[in-house]
Amino acid sequence: MGQAKREMMDHEETVQGVIIKLMEAGAAEECEGHGYPINRGDDEAVEQVKIDLAKEYGKDEADELVDEAVSQLYDECPGCAQNAKDD
Ligand SMILES: [Zn+2]
Repeated sequence: MGQAKREMMDHEETVQGVIIKLMEAGAAEECEGHGYPINRGDDEAVEQVKIDLAKEYGKDEADELVDEAVSQLYDECPGCAQNAKDD
């Protein structure tokens, strides 16, 4: 595996870890039925995760990682939306 590819995978893992932190902080929640990470729209909790991560990654990197993680959250669980459509 090339170095660039490995770095990309490390990055993906880091973003997944940030999503878990967002859940722990209450900025995101996992749909119990489908496991999708849902954005709770809690800006304060997002800000708190950025502050926490800044200690580890530095402010700029933390902001970037958290923004990327938030962009991967769903506004609405796709599984639940599908169920609602079927009703
Ligand atoms: Zn769901």
